[in-house]
Amino acid sequence: MAASWRASSCYDSPALWTRWSRGWSKVDVVKAAVLKEGHKSRTALIYDRGMLSHRCSCDSKRHVHPEQPDRLARILRAMDSEGFLDRCARPFSREAATDELAQVHQLAHVEHYGFIGSAPPDLETMECGGKGVACDTVFNSATTGRAARLSSGCLLQLTSLVIQNEIVNGFAVIRPPGHHAEANEAMGFSFFNNVSIAAAAAKAHGMKRILIVDWDIHHGNGTQNIFYNDPSVLYLSLHRHDDGNFYPYTGDADECGAGEGVGKNVNIPWRGNGAMGNNEYLAAFYYVVMPIARQFNPELVFISAGFDAAEGDLIGNYKVTPAGFARMTAWLKELAGGKVILALEGGYDLNSLSTCATACIRVLLGEQPPPIPPSSNQYDTRNSNQPSSAAITLLKRVINIQREHWSELRMPSSFDLPYELYENTSSAMPKSPRGSLGPRTRRGVHPRDLD
Ligand SMILES: [Zn+2]
Ligand SMILES: [Zn+2]
Repeated sequence: MAASWRASSCYDSPALWTRWSRGWSKVDVVKAAVLKEGHKSRTALIYDRGMLSHRCSCDSKRHVHPEQPDRLARILRAMDSEGFLDRCARPFSREAATDELAQVHQLAHVEHYGFIGSAPPDLETMECGGKGVACDTVFNSATTGRAARLSSGCLLQLTSLVIQNEIVNGFAVIRPPGHHAEANEAMGFSFFNNVSIAAAAAKAHGMKRILIVDWDIHHGNGTQNIFYNDPSVLYLSLHRHDDGNFYPYTGDADECGAGEGVGKNVNIPWRGNGAMGNNEYLAAFYYVVMPIARQFNPELVFISAGFDAAEGDLIGNYKVTPAGFARMTAWLKELAGGKVILALEGGYDLNSLSTCATACIRVLLGEQPPPIPPSSNQYDTRNSNQPSSAAITLLKRVINIQREHWSELRMPSSFDLPYELYENTSSAMPKSPRGSLGPRTRRGVHPRDLD
């Protein structure tokens, strides 16, 4: 039932501070996770309404802050109307503790952004009159610190449950996002690097091969840097790069890791406005991402699941559809015994955000991904199973760079995709038996009604 939201808070205690100061660093993530009673599903969905309170103090209708509370509300409403809130296990949420955040971030950073009433030193007055970091990242000293701890804490809960084998996969519907946050810098709507914190917790629990796939349209500069020297975490990102002219301007193909981490960083940096869609992303997965991931043989997979490469998102202006995201999720589920955890990152068009997120959780729950629709570009003369020539050029460059590190990576003679992935337009193939990926008409409980 949707009305059963409850949060258990884990406020920092003096005991935790003492343990941290003594050098106690291993967080026992296993003890921390609690599932609500009576669950049967092996797929979990986690959320906490406390994350809705992270909003600009200007509260103005004239200024739209794209990283807004409605992002979570729309995803949850769509999932509720499809019945997924009932079909998933629903773990208790919690806040991340300071020592968990400090596995990845400097303590001064945690103190600046993780406490109510704290004031980061570089806070600016934004155009709307509200306060923020670097002109675009809203920071509300009354609410943001707790929301950011909940965002990381929810993902830690899912990670714990997967490690304990209580669930096999899950989706953390969280904000603020994390992948731009550096060890000592908040930026790009991110304060704490949620996925890095969860990966560090999995490492502390003994995992030696952790894969992070980041399909947000922006490069996860923070995640790359945090694990750049670490051979146990493979970071693999597909993002719009535009030769270093697209935010955050990092993530070129020749950034492959350093020291012991050489070869454990893979960037697929797209170029061009409006250029990439299902065929390009799926070809990248089929010919680069999956061969490398299979050779790495991860014990756990995180997806930095931003949906700003989705069709309809004007910040990204790419054209990946819900079926494309579902297919990528299904392929990643083939790894690590299916232990896949999605963490929401970006995605700013509320319609495409909610339909794409819903398509992914449908696959986590065991449904087959729907066939890929034919290209919607009437001027596109390519065959329906081919990526663009610009994408092929880039993928060849990435393969040439990465095959030095991955012996299983081959240069294919063509980048065509299997026809079985596509909708058969010549026959009257029925759509998915559940109908459209959009919300159904049954009135669900709006998450805002639960406050
Ligand atoms: Zn504002
Ligand atoms: Zn993004």
